[in-house]
Amino acid sequence: MKNIVILTGAGISKESGVATFRDAGGLWTAYNPDEVMTRTAWKKNPAKVIEFKNMIRRDFVDNNYQPNAAHHALVKLEKEWAHGKVTIITQNIDGLHVMAGSTNVLDIHGNIGLKFCEYCGFESVYDADIVLSASCKKCGEIASTRPKIVMFEEYPYYSKEVQDCLSKCSIFAVIGSSLEVQPANGFGLTAKNYGSETTLINLEPPARGDLWHWDLRIYGPATLTVPVWVDKILANNP
Ligand code: NAD
Repeated sequence: MKNIVILTGAGISKESGVATFRDAGGLWTAYNPDEVMTRTAWKKNPAKVIEFKNMIRRDFVDNNYQPNAAHHALVKLEKEWAHGKVTIITQNIDGLHVMAGSTNVLDIHGNIGLKFCEYCGFESVYDADIVLSASCKKCGEIASTRPKIVMFEEYPYYSKEVQDCLSKCSIFAVIGSSLEVQPANGFGLTAKNYGSETTLINLEPPARGDLWHWDLRIYGPATLTVPVWVDKILANNP
C-alpha cells in the first residue's frame, strides 16, 4: 500500500485567477488580517469581519473561478494511482478541487460556499450576503451565523483524519503554500517523520522555514509543474 497525500495552498488556484494572501497584490496587502480574519476580530467587530467575508463570497460569484491544469492533474492522479489512496488536504476555501473532480478532499479551512450558526451548528449554503442582525433559521439566535471559514485563533477541521493520513502515506507533497500558516506548515515534517518521501512544489522557495525535510523541491507555476510531477509519479509506479 502506497498512499499519497497532497497539501494544497492558495498558490494552486492563483492561475485560476483567485488572489493569494501573501503574494504581491495578495489580499493582505489591502486588508489587515488582525481586523478581518481572527476570532478576536469576530468577537470585537463582527460587522467588519462579515463585510470582508461577504466581499470574498461576492468575488467568487462574480468571477466564477474554474479549476486549472494543476487541479485537473490531481484528479488524474487520484483516478490512475493504483497503489493506494490519494488524499488532498487543502487550505483553500475555493472548492476548486471538488469542482475539478477530486473525490477525497479535506478542506481544513472550510468552504466559501457554506455558512453555519455558531450557537446551534446549523449549516446552510452561503449564497447571499450574511446580514449580521438576522436570526438563525433553526435556533433563532441573532448575529451568530458566519461563513464556514476557519479564522486565525481557531482550530482547523479534520485534525484526526489529517494525522491519520499523514501517518500512513508514502508520498507527501505540498503545492502552492507559503508555509506560513499553522498547523499545515508542519505537515511535511510530520509526514517525513513517519517515513514518507516529501516534495515541495511552489512558485519559488518559501521565505521562511527549513527546507531540509523536503526530499524534492520543484519551483515554477503550478499549471506547469504539477502535471509534469503527476506524470512522473504515475510513470515511475506502473
Ligand atoms: P499564501 O497566500 O500564504 O501563499 C501562496 C503561495 O503560493 C506562495 O508561497 C506563492 O509563492 C505560491 N504561488 C503563487 N502563485 C503560484 C503559482 N502559480 N504556482 C505555484 N505556487 C504559487 O497561501 P497559503 O499558504 O495557502 O496560506 C494560507 C491561507 O490563505 C489559507 O488559510 C487559505 O485558506 C487562504 N487562502 C485561500 C485562497 C483560496 O481558497 N484559493 C486564496 C487566498 C488565501
